[in-house]
Amino acid sequence: MLRIHGSAPAVPLVLDSPHSGREFPADFDAAVSEFDLRDGEDCYVDELYLPATELGVPLLAARFPRTYLDPNRHRGDVDLELIEGGRWPHEYAPSGKAKIGKALVWRTLDDGRAIYARKLKVDEVLGRIERCHAPYHAALRELIDATHARFGVVYHVNCHSMPAVGGKQGEGGAGKPRADFVLGDRDGTSCNPEFTEFVRATLAAMGYEVKVNDPYKGVELVRAYSDPARGRHSLQVEINKRLYMDEATRKKHDGFATLQKNLATLAESIADYAQRCAAAARKAT
Ligand SMILES: [Zn+2]
Repeated sequence: MLRIHGSAPAVPLVLDSPHSGREFPADFDAAVSEFDLRDGEDCYVDELYLPATELGVPLLAARFPRTYLDPNRHRGDVDLELIEGGRWPHEYAPSGKAKIGKALVWRTLDDGRAIYARKLKVDEVLGRIERCHAPYHAALRELIDATHARFGVVYHVNCHSMPAVGGKQGEGGAGKPRADFVLGDRDGTSCNPEFTEFVRATLAAMGYEVKVNDPYKGVELVRAYSDPARGRHSLQVEINKRLYMDEATRKKHDGFATLQKNLATLAESIADYAQRCAAAARKAT
């Protein structure tokens, strides 16, 4: 259900791509086509960052589709409207994303269409949590913990892509054009703001338009394992899909190779930054 590219971390940097999976489980039973279900996919994001693994940076990638289960949600962020009987007898931690149909298990597509022609059973959703959410989170936590134990600091980049223009139920409002990149640090709480600024400036120097926390602030995966005061930094990076793919056909276009090269340069810059921070942390203790 997941794959870890690369080996043990050689630098204090960890990447994860939670939304690029496209192996459709047999029990999905959605009422819309696989093509439509890829609406929620951050297409090719794992492939875009793959060259970074040559620097000794591990890259965790989900293989299951985001619409099947979104690992960037708390396991208790269940949409009660989707559950048979409207009750969830396990840990319940609503984030408010159910309102736009994008809680742990998506109820609707970005354009508002229902994904299922039925309600889901509690055991069915629990099974998805056990098979997808739990192993993904365990793998990410292990990578972050192992890197922190080795270097005293860890920089975690949570890799995503976003539609060029906000959909009907999109974050920040329908029809809103997105910048080239949006960085999310949950308003300066999931990493040192200096790190966010470093990534912003690095991308801006490449000629990209970059926004911070607008409209994406970062969700569960940058919240869960970050603790900037203890040297654990997580930053969400959203890439505008128009930079590398045709959203209508979901095919890569000519911009893919250039973006992939620029992301390798970005990863190298972040790895250098992280190593400088690790050296400073060693000196301080
Ligand atoms: Zn995403």
